[in-house]
Amino acid sequence: MLKRFKIPFIVIITLFVIFWVGSSIFNYFTHNVIPEIIITGIEREGFYSGVIQGNIKSNNSYKIAQVRAFLDGEEINLDCPRQIGNKKFNIPFKIDTNNLLNGLHILEIEAIDSSYNQNKSNDKLEFFVDNIPLKATFLQQEYRVDQGHTVHLRIQANKKIADVNARFLEKIYSCYPESENSKLYECFIPIDCEQNADEYILTVELFDKVKNNIKLTGKIIVNAVNFPRQKGFKIAKGKLEEEKEISMSNKILEDALEKWIQDSSRKKLWRGKFEIPIELQRVATPFGEIRTTSEKGRYLHKAVDILNHPKSVVWASQDGKIIIKDRFLLTGNTVAIDHGVGVITLYCHLEDFADIEVGDFVKKGNPIGRLGMTGYANGYHLHWELRVNNVSVDPFEWTKKVF
Ligand SMILES: [Zn+2]
Repeated sequence: MLKRFKIPFIVIITLFVIFWVGSSIFNYFTHNVIPEIIITGIEREGFYSGVIQGNIKSNNSYKIAQVRAFLDGEEINLDCPRQIGNKKFNIPFKIDTNNLLNGLHILEIEAIDSSYNQNKSNDKLEFFVDNIPLKATFLQQEYRVDQGHTVHLRIQANKKIADVNARFLEKIYSCYPESENSKLYECFIPIDCEQNADEYILTVELFDKVKNNIKLTGKIIVNAVNFPRQKGFKIAKGKLEEEKEISMSNKILEDALEKWIQDSSRKKLWRGKFEIPIELQRVATPFGEIRTTSEKGRYLHKAVDILNHPKSVVWASQDGKIIIKDRFLLTGNTVAIDHGVGVITLYCHLEDFADIEVGDFVKKGNPIGRLGMTGYANGYHLHWELRVNNVSVDPFEWTKKVF
């Protein structure tokens, strides 16, 4: 029995060796897969300062013969033998960015396997050096602003910044470049008309693309405004009941606005002043007027009510995107336009809508509807509201000043 097994065992070993040698030779001549190299410690289009500690890693299906690295076309020394002869390896490398100019650089990694075909990979990676010390300053450090007005905060930096945030009264406002390649960053801070008149600290923190940061401290002084008191606002008895039948609750509108503020374009969609959306015959209720009604109690009217002929055309006050076009219990037929960076205008009590749809981009002066008295209204008027990060501010300030 044993004798019978001895011969086949040798045969198996021999066959195995022949097969192994054969397949190795076959592989050597036929392997035509480009080597797979992984570069870590440095990212495509990344920004770097100081010393970059990188690593070239391979887990290739064929032995790698040689790895070479080039920085801006010039070979750099790698800490590895000339002939590698392995499928798996780690080759660390260092790039001292202090010896490089600020700006774009190209790292190239070339790997050649040891097969007959000498398959070659070439990975190109663009990265940026930023060894410029970060500098930034307020264009204006102290702001004096009325209740219900808007602070236009502007910060000049010496280079493009990754993240600029302003903090005011527990809220954080993201600042964006004034235009595409600008190093001037801005944001709009609304001062609620019910915010107490006082001095407040404003802080701004900037982080550049290599994580240097600067903190600036400024001041916002809120001036008191003597808002007028409204007398005798009454609405016809059955009107709200009728509206309830055909309208959505204003909670739905508020929730939608809250969501839209988060999604507001990061780019300013407007240029120049805002326009009053209808010819101004008379202001029925100014911004901030203190109103007491049986339905809503005491509240401040955080918009302007403009009178004109019934069914006159209402125009978009600035360029932007239609985000709401619907009927709500209090605001009636309502259109909201997003002007970017958290600035939204609302047009309420419309008789009907112009030929617009949610998602449409409109220009300043495009018709959006006609003057009406739908919703919680006791006569034909336009309730025009401007919200900055969902806080209603005086829209007339935006028609007099360029933000
Ligand atoms: Zn109103």
